[in-house]
Amino acid sequence: MKDQFGKCSICRDKYTLQRVALEEDAVIYVCSECIEKARDHFIWLCMVCGKSYVRPKDLVITRIKDLELKKAYMLCENEIMIQGIETCISCSPERMLDYAEMHETAMEC
Ligand SMILES: [Zn+2]
Ligand SMILES: [Zn+2]
Repeated sequence: MKDQFGKCSICRDKYTLQRVALEEDAVIYVCSECIEKARDHFIWLCMVCGKSYVRPKDLVITRIKDLELKKAYMLCENEIMIQGIETCISCSPERMLDYAEMHETAMEC
C-alpha cells in the first residue's frame, strides 16, 4: 500500500501519514497530536457522522458502574484506545448514551 496523507479523523484538522486500525476493516488517519492525546483519553469515533469524542480515562473509569467493564477499561488504561461506534448523540440525539457503557462488547486490547 503506498503511503498517502490523510486528514486526521479525530481532530479533522491535521494531515498525517499515520494510520490506526479500528475493529472491522476501518482504518483511520490519526495525527501524532491525537495519538498523544489517546494516551490519557479514550477516543470514540462515530462511524456514521465521523464525529469524535474524547474523554479523560480516569473520568470514564470512575463513572463505570459495571465491575467487569470497569476492569476491562482499567486494563486499557495504558493503551492507545480508539474505538469506532455505530452511532452517537449527534446521530441519535434521542438516545442519551454513555459511550463507555454502551460499548461494553467492543473491548479488545
Ligand atoms: Zn488529530
Ligand atoms: Zn454520529
